[in-house]
Amino acid sequence: MEKRIARFVVLLCVIAAGCSSPRIPADLVLRGGNVVTLDDRRPRAQAIALRAGRIIAVGSDRDIAGFVGPRTETVDLAGRLALPGFIEGHGHFMGLGESKTVLDLTTARNFEEIVARVGAATRVAEPGTWITGRGWHQDKWEEVPEDAVAGVPVHRRLSAVSPDHPVVLRHASGHAAFANARALERAGIDRHTPDPPGGQIVRDAGGEPTGLLRELAQLPVVDARMRDLAGRPDADVERERIRYVELAGEDLLSKGITSFHDAGSSFETIDFFDRLAGRGELPVRLYVMVRGASHAALEQALADTRRIGAHGDYLTVRSIKLQIDGALGSHGAWLLEPYLDLPSSTGLALTPVEDIRRSAEIAIAHGYQVNTHAIGDRANREVLNVYEAVFAGHAAPADLRWRIEHAQHIHPDDVPRFAALGVIASMQGVHATSDGSWVPKRLGAERTRNGAYVWRDLLEAGAVVTNGTDVPVEDADPLASFYASVSRRLADGSRFTPDQRMTREEALRSYTTLNAYAAFEEDVKGSLTPGKLADIVVLSRDILSIPEDEIPSTRVDYTILGGRVVYRRPQGRSASIGPGRAWGAAVGDEPADVGPRGERPDRRDPPGAS
Ligand SMILES: [Zn+2]
Repeated sequence: MEKRIARFVVLLCVIAAGCSSPRIPADLVLRGGNVVTLDDRRPRAQAIALRAGRIIAVGSDRDIAGFVGPRTETVDLAGRLALPGFIEGHGHFMGLGESKTVLDLTTARNFEEIVARVGAATRVAEPGTWITGRGWHQDKWEEVPEDAVAGVPVHRRLSAVSPDHPVVLRHASGHAAFANARALERAGIDRHTPDPPGGQIVRDAGGEPTGLLRELAQLPVVDARMRDLAGRPDADVERERIRYVELAGEDLLSKGITSFHDAGSSFETIDFFDRLAGRGELPVRLYVMVRGASHAALEQALADTRRIGAHGDYLTVRSIKLQIDGALGSHGAWLLEPYLDLPSSTGLALTPVEDIRRSAEIAIAHGYQVNTHAIGDRANREVLNVYEAVFAGHAAPADLRWRIEHAQHIHPDDVPRFAALGVIASMQGVHATSDGSWVPKRLGAERTRNGAYVWRDLLEAGAVVTNGTDVPVEDADPLASFYASVSRRLADGSRFTPDQRMTREEALRSYTTLNAYAAFEEDVKGSLTPGKLADIVVLSRDILSIPEDEIPSTRVDYTILGGRVVYRRPQGRSASIGPGRAWGAAVGDEPADVGPRGERPDRRDPPGAS
């Protein structure tokens, strides 16, 4: 008799859908919420039950009540919006961690402030150790010193406060750096040093280096620092790397990010991630692209490096990262026609097309996805051509899901090719609004209108468009990029080519289901579906229905990763806003910190470094 009742209860539950085994309690139940699942079979719900790191049921509060046992933790969502955990589609994981340890110069209002901050840093750092900074941009300064060369000061005053420390300060773009006298000396750069191919040592009227090093001219300084760092004991290096991981994790989890596409890392760093993941010490799930390896190294190591959902779905490696051009801000994006404000130049290819093609052939032979940084319209066209050629003869190219990272400026003729080839446009919503104010200066009105950050055109043409921030180039905040994607609102309140806006649902999908798709992970991530990983974010406001200008004041209240609450917004800090959040007037009384961000680099390493 009892058996028959039990069978009847099970049958009822199957009919009710989503409560397949009600008598095994959940570890965690979220209830009383506005649950947007992004699963078309059940788009809306009130409650979710989680067990053993997975979603076991989604439904009404009544459906889910049966999953609450004596040891089940419950969270009352009080009507708040619960979504699949955000997936950062393109960022630099170790770079994010490191960026938290170097001087953040993004808000410096003038050169004096930078000199003062470096001076303060020298007082706590051992003489001889390197002081690094990042994020300065001369166009954000109130004034530029009179002795400036090419709009940037000379190193004299900086060197005066740091005679015993090499100092290197990366430009916001990553495409230039500013070095003091000691760093130039360590790098062996003086008035007799010729400009390297692909780089420029900026000099004053007397021929002396000013400290500004463009593009590949940064390398000797980077190398000098690496030589000095290489002398350190392994334990110090390891401790520093682990610190980067912790800092990155803290930042991402507070922003509702549960998975992160790392674009990309060396084989050595991937081994490090693998060790951490094996010990359960990766704070978020990583989808890592292999970067910076020679053809020979790719041939040798790709097969052994492949990981899919390793260590409980914390580490996947099945893609490589390539980079064909530079960035628009530094005139490094490779264009079909010259720059409006630099008519002598169409930018340049950082990697020869033939090299890109050879890497792509190696990748396809090993079943790897290829994700190539392309910003200019020429760069995008060349990459599409390479992909098309390499796909020829492949039965189902769309299944390869190859990506173009940034896909920022696209000739209208090339827009339909993304969908036709099944190439994913891996874009960053927030770049459009960071850059929008100065893009027309580089490209002119017509090219801007027809080809700049054209995610609407790509979507209409049937392409998959994903989203992210390129952190640490931008703050990792998904809500900022979501807001940029749906508003294209610039700091001055105007909208940047507003007909390219995404709908809110499109923007949400670009951060969840589509980023999962772009990593071949749609079976386990991207929607709140029973059986998938229990990665969830709870927001303070319903970003799908509140007035648009209220989106920026939305906060992450909970982040749940693998069924555990890993972030809870501290009480009484409702107005807390992370530094670098740059979405203008709507953010309360925070100063609108939207300067002309130069460029969209892959800023971790100068181009060509590997
Ligand atoms: Zn990048």
